[in-house]
Amino acid sequence: MFCEAARTVSRCCELTLTTREDSTGEYDMTGIPVDNAEPYVETLLDAGFRVAIAEQVEDPGEVSGVADRRVTRVVTPGTLTEDELLDGDGHNFVACLAREGSDDRRADRYGLALLDVSTGDCYVTAVEGVGAVRDEAGRFAPAEAVVGPGVDEDLAPEAFGPDCPVTAHDPATFDRPAASQRMRAYFGSSGADLATDAEGRACGALLAYAEYARGGAVEHARDGDDADDGTGARLGYINHLTRYDPREYVLLDAVALRSLELFERRAVRGVEGAALVDVLDETASALGRRELTDWLRRPLLDTDRIEARHDAVEELVGDVRTRERLHERLADVYDLERLISRVSRGRANARDLRSLMATLDLVPEVKADLADADADPLVDLRAALDELADVRERIGNAIVEDPPVELTEGGVVAEGYSDELDGLRETERAGKAWIEDLQARERERTGIDNLRVGHNAVHGYYIEVTDANVDKVPEDYRRRQTLKNAERYYTPELKAREDEILRAEGRADDLEYRLFREVRDAVAAETERVQDVAAALASLDALVSLAEVAARYDYVRPEVGADGFDIEAGRHPVVERTQESFVPNDAGFDRGEVTVLTGPNMSGKSTYMRQVALIAILAQAGSFVPAVDARLPVVDRVFTRVGASDDIAGGQSTFMVEMTELAEILRSATADSLVLLDEVGRGTSTTDGLALARAVTEYVHDEVGATTLFATHHHELTETAADLPRARNVHFSAEQVDGEVVFDHEIQEGAGTASYGVEVASEAGVPDTVVERARELIDGDGEAASDDRPRGVDRSAAANASTDRNDSATARTDTVADRGARAADGVGDLAAVVDRLKGVDLADTTPLEALNLLAELQDQVGDAS
Ligand code: ADP
Repeated sequence: MFCEAARTVSRCCELTLTTREDSTGEYDMTGIPVDNAEPYVETLLDAGFRVAIAEQVEDPGEVSGVADRRVTRVVTPGTLTEDELLDGDGHNFVACLAREGSDDRRADRYGLALLDVSTGDCYVTAVEGVGAVRDEAGRFAPAEAVVGPGVDEDLAPEAFGPDCPVTAHDPATFDRPAASQRMRAYFGSSGADLATDAEGRACGALLAYAEYARGGAVEHARDGDDADDGTGARLGYINHLTRYDPREYVLLDAVALRSLELFERRAVRGVEGAALVDVLDETASALGRRELTDWLRRPLLDTDRIEARHDAVEELVGDVRTRERLHERLADVYDLERLISRVSRGRANARDLRSLMATLDLVPEVKADLADADADPLVDLRAALDELADVRERIGNAIVEDPPVELTEGGVVAEGYSDELDGLRETERAGKAWIEDLQARERERTGIDNLRVGHNAVHGYYIEVTDANVDKVPEDYRRRQTLKNAERYYTPELKAREDEILRAEGRADDLEYRLFREVRDAVAAETERVQDVAAALASLDALVSLAEVAARYDYVRPEVGADGFDIEAGRHPVVERTQESFVPNDAGFDRGEVTVLTGPNMSGKSTYMRQVALIAILAQAGSFVPAVDARLPVVDRVFTRVGASDDIAGGQSTFMVEMTELAEILRSATADSLVLLDEVGRGTSTTDGLALARAVTEYVHDEVGATTLFATHHHELTETAADLPRARNVHFSAEQVDGEVVFDHEIQEGAGTASYGVEVASEAGVPDTVVERARELIDGDGEAASDDRPRGVDRSAAANASTDRNDSATARTDTVADRGARAADGVGDLAAVVDRLKGVDLADTTPLEALNLLAELQDQVGDAS
């Protein structure tokens, strides 16, 4: 790196900057070891740079003058293919967004294309509105986004989130004709059959970007092919486009993915938790792992397709032997998708070809394992497994079993594959054998007992004779080198033999490399067939994994398409695996019912809500579910508004984030959606928060009609629910055992009790008098205390409240009534106390703060009376 680039890189990678001087003057330079470039490239990518790699693309020995150098690769976060740079064997997507319409008449409709350059997986879809782009893109978590005309700096972060690097690429590649031409070259169709123009343009431009990242056509010229002929730029392994309609899949936006922890673990107090995909992943291969991830990312809506997967899983759950056998075989499957993509890009070495063959060798066995398969998907998979005998045979015949990594130094091509090669190798061998025998022959001929035949890199073969014996040297010996005590010779015959060996060796190496490339090209020509096999193996692995998990962890086949949730003894798939014991809970909700879930902190509200959502997602992804029995509706989207404190994004306040997400839910949820609301309104004052929570509950109930779970510490919300016909209260409670708060984690009907914070205060050692007084104050909430209504009146929420404190409530009623009477002439002050009390967010109050507050309030009330 030179000049500005050198300065930038040296700063970023902490490299020493030096200067160099030549006819152009003095300039800065720095460098990195080429063999160990990856860590530096990674650092540069992390810092937001793209890295262009330029190489000498001509053999300097073969050209006169300056050998050609070109950029052969532009490394960007979304277009990685290097195993060292890719993060494990998951997908690495680059996204591309194009806007519908011409410059002067732009619509808020977009084409979104996604590509994994390391595997060739390519998707395209049409979306309406930037919010929907974000949702769709969020599924794929692209590592980079490419944008074109009409998508500016403001729009891009909105569409892809603040953390996704955005690259503006050549606007010309987004033009309709250019894009159509590329679509035709890759997929054999012009993209005209796509639903929208923007889809075709996004996809075409994305392909152009992938080519650009591969250094255009230069790649193919790289390892010796003739100069590029203009068609070489095409990446042959990208040949299948999945056009999908977002409406075919459950919509899981980035917020839902994150809060349900489908893929990302979230560290809790420094301890890394597990994500859903982790507890579900019993796949044996990288192919299967990616497939399973994809199924979770895009759960199905179509009941038939869902049930087909369940059929396959059921069969594999029942047939332990087949399942285990398949798992064992699949464990030997190499990453066929990445292998074939390397083959197709001309980057595969001989080992890659052998790995590919080894994987294909398993296919007949896998088919045999599936011989008795009954379930449709398994039968289809068996049929889709092409044995590719021709490809296997070709590789097996041509490439030695354990080839070297280097391609140009021979040892790659098997004996018997090419007569010409075998001839050359024979010449080489015969020559070497002749030389091996030479020493003995010459000793005999010359009578020199210590005559020695040797070889060195500079002079080649020689015959060495010590000074004492030089007089016995025959006439045909020519002097080659003089040592301290000896002379080295050659003979014309030795020279001829040596030349012959060298010629044969050189020609053989060249020939091997040529033959290897022929084989690689032949395999590349079968890319699509190999990809089909890869896809079938991937699905099979994913199904086997689902079955393994179902069998091992006691999952049950859910019935989908019901008119509501009816889950018996459901469990949270992740929590049940990460802690010693887990309390199963039922869940029964009618379609469109709003359920208000109350309970103290840590009683299990979030776990319960997430468990319901995860069971729905698992079922629709094709998995069995952790429950004793489950009847489930087909959910079109899962919305979450969970955890107020942990997602402060892009400088927005927590409350703003909360409200933005809420707005989206209220706008987009349908009667088929599942909505999880956790502590909505927490980020603002209690009065506002409660008012919002009430309004939201009513709106969801009256207008949206989505099946909704609303967890809240606002006990008042239970009253709202009690008033609505399709709303219900359920609760978790806590008990005090030997002075400790104990949660049973059992969901119960009704509204529960409100005064939990006081239990904590009591547990924390707050004096009994204070605790008692607090209980009184809570039971006599502002409304009642200020209008003198006697306590213990049967309000709607209290009617279905659990009754663990009802006995003592009667006793306390008198006390509060007395106090009310005593306070009669100080009503104004009492109202002030009540207002202050109402303003307290118990969930955010420490026992000590509560204690102080109580003391102040007591003073205030004391003064009043
Ligand atoms: P909340 O949302 O009410 O504050 P959480 O759902 O976060 O409570 O649960 C708190 C903790 O309780 C969890 O981390 C988990 O360890 C435990 N927990 C929750 N539900 C159950 C259950 N059904 N069985 C056993 N433990 C549970």
